[in-house]
Amino acid sequence: MSGQTDTTHDEAASLTAGHAAGYCWVQGPGARGRCTRRPGHDDDHVDYYNGRQSITDVEGYRWPQ
Ligand SMILES: [Zn+2]
Repeated sequence: MSGQTDTTHDEAASLTAGHAAGYCWVQGPGARGRCTRRPGHDDDHVDYYNGRQSITDVEGYRWPQ
């Protein structure tokens, strides 16, 4: 968390790390969250951790492929 400005490089590195963790990891619209479904999934991208309106919600942001 120290002044990273090379977002293009960071995005590529983050995608690689996300895939290694078993996530699709595509960034959502407006950089809100990342898809935490498995890589190569069907249907919409979903971030299960960010964008939830309440603690009882099972998913947060959702956006189309
Ligand atoms: Zn996805």
